[in-house]
This record gives sequence, C-alpha cells and structure tokens, in this order.
Amino acid sequence: KPGLYIVATPIGNLKDLSPRAADVLSRADAIAVEDSRVTGGLLHHIGVKRPMIPYHDHSTERVRDDLVARMGSQAIALVSDAGTPLISDPGFKLVRAARAAGHAVTTLPGPCAAVAALTLAGLPTDRFLFAGFLPSKAKARDEAIDEVATIRATLLFYESGPRLGAALAALAARLGDREAAVAREISKMFEECVTGTLGELAARYAEATPKGEIVIVVAPPGEAPPATEADADVLLAAALQRLS
Ligand code: SAM
Repeated sequence: KPGLYIVATPIGNLKDLSPRAADVLSRADAIAVEDSRVTGGLLHHIGVKRPMIPYHDHSTERVRDDLVARMGSQAIALVSDAGTPLISDPGFKLVRAARAAGHAVTTLPGPCAAVAALTLAGLPTDRFLFAGFLPSKAKARDEAIDEVATIRATLLFYESGPRLGAALAALAARLGDREAAVAREISKMFEECVTGTLGELAARYAEATPKGEIVIVVAPPGEAPPATEADADVLLAAALQRLS
C-alpha cells in the first residue's frame, strides 16, 4: 500500500531485524536512507535490492517534496543507519510533511538503544527522559545538564567512547553522586553494562576510552534525606497534639 513506512533496524545484531521489517523493505518502491552503504549492507544480508534515496532532515525541500509526492502512489520506507528512525536520527520533518500531505504513515517498531539501555541499567523505568547527545563544548554541556538536573525521571544520554569520560565528569559534578549505568555495544558481541555512582563511573572512564557506542543512564534525583530522629520527635509531638 502506498504511504510512509518507518522501519526500525538492528543496533548491532542483524538477527534483531523483524520479519515484518524485512518484508516491508523487500517490497518498498524506494527506501529513504541515511547512508546507502550501511543500508545496502543490511539489504544484502536479507537478499534484497531496492532503490535507495539519501535523506537527512537537512536535505533540501526538493528532496523531501519528491519523497512526499511519491507516497501518494508508492510505498516509501524510511530507515536510519541503526535503530529507530527519528530517535537522534533523521525523519521528523519527513513524517511531518507526509502527515501534512495526508498520506498513510505507519511504523514498524524495533530496536532503540535508549530503551534497550533503560532495560539493562536496573534503574527506575516508570518515568524517563531521553536527552539525546550532550553538546561537546563544556559550557553548553553544563547548561544542558543543569536544564534536566531537577527532573524526577531517569535520564538517558547518547554518547561516544572518546567523549564518555568528560561527559561523566560533568554529570557527576552537576548532578551529584547519583546511581548510573554505562551501557555499551548493546546486542553486539562485547555488550556490557557497567553500573556505579556517577563519581565511580567518571573515575573509571577518566583515562580509559572505551570503544563502541554508548548510552549513559542516570537515576532520578534522590528523595529528600530521611528525617533525623530529632525531626521524628517533633513530628510525633505535633501529631499527638492534633489528636488530643
Ligand atoms: N536511532 C538510533 C536508536 O534508535 O537508538 C540512535 C542513533 S544515534 C545517531 C547513535 C547513538 O545511539 C550512538 O552514539 C549510541 O549513543 C547509541 N547506540 C546505537 N547503537 C548502540 C548500541 N548497540 N549500544 C549502545 N548504544 C548504542
């Protein structure tokens, strides 16, 4: 059927491509891709050859208009290099334009590094904030961290190996010693999830630059410190007074 198909692809393990995703990719009239070499590799793996059109959110409007026009009569798939399109990846403007033009838009859910890391970390999952990549310049990074510092939710950041140490140091300095996790190479051969306080993790990665792709998971700000015994006495006296 014509329209836009948002197709999640593996974040490391090719077996994570869903049968439905493979089916849609093999039948799409064209696939909007970030990098045709990366998606070409995936298509080769499933024995499929389809036309690929490079697409980024900063692509010209002409490229976007052309894709949207095709959706009236063709099935256009959107993929990114890895994981779920639109999540720190291109696609938002294309989906918006497809909707504005009244085309059918559907999604084929699948791997997403942020959600996968959240499930690994052992930190609260009832509320979480995906904060994408922190800026690389120190001042902008500090500001971005301060912006989310008081949010009562587990925080998720995408990061790369070379920047991990500096990012953890800044997080530890500005958020205090919260529990955190560094999830790396999820679904790949060397998958690991290292947990500890932000301070411990910052120390561990201060020198060592780990390879591969990383998600940092940070616990929500702690509850108010437990009342001291003296506080408890005051509260109890007040409660008793109300009762009498
Ligand atoms: N759209 C993708 C998704 O759904 O997760 C994310 C794309 S973003 C450009 C790439 C970042 O995602 C990496 O820098 C890393 O922070 C994270 N990432 C991707 N694959 C990962 C993996 N296998 N393990 C840990 N983090 C990963």
